[in-house]
Amino acid sequence: MWNPIRNLVAKVFPMTVKIHPAVDGGVKHTDVPGFSGGKLTCQCADNPVVVSVTAQTAHNHVCGCSKCWKPSGAAFSQVAVVSKDNLNVDQNENKLAVIDASAAIQRHACTSCGVHMYGRIEDTTHPFFGLDFIHTELSDQDGWSAPEFAAFVSSIIESGTPPENMDAIRHRLTELGLEPYDCLSPPLMDAIATHVAKSRATG
Ligand SMILES: [Zn+2]
Ligand SMILES: [Zn+2]
Repeated sequence: MWNPIRNLVAKVFPMTVKIHPAVDGGVKHTDVPGFSGGKLTCQCADNPVVVSVTAQTAHNHVCGCSKCWKPSGAAFSQVAVVSKDNLNVDQNENKLAVIDASAAIQRHACTSCGVHMYGRIEDTTHPFFGLDFIHTELSDQDGWSAPEFAAFVSSIIESGTPPENMDAIRHRLTELGLEPYDCLSPPLMDAIATHVAKSRATG
């Protein structure tokens, strides 16, 4: 469709804007008190990689960066963090490989289906060292923390979203209760800055 028309349709009918399958029908607040994790399974029909997570996730959000794994057709990924001590690869670890060893987050992806099973920070000086990034949509279990905000929204342009669609996309994110940010959320940006300030003070 001609872009200005598509943009107008998106503004009048924001529900036509696709963000991610987990939130397009409305964010489901299915967090279960006391929920303590579950299993993540890749998309391979045979011998899938299975990862167990033994804690509730934090900071779940949709992410527009070009590096996070997205289901096909989605403009955003959905990604949350958990302590690396609460994550274990249970099955078919031999199928996993790090897709970009130079990235801050080492994303361990299934070499058969391409799904990222977890992203780990190996740099001990990184503000988020100790956390793994996971996609809870890979789990059958209900009770994971719901997405809370949208990160790196402008970055979806790098993956091919026309810039003129951004108004409608930000409008839809706000409507879904996922405050759009072009970096991380204020609490996470504050955590990074606090880490930097502390390391300067001690270094
Ligand atoms: Zn796979
Ligand atoms: Zn991302």
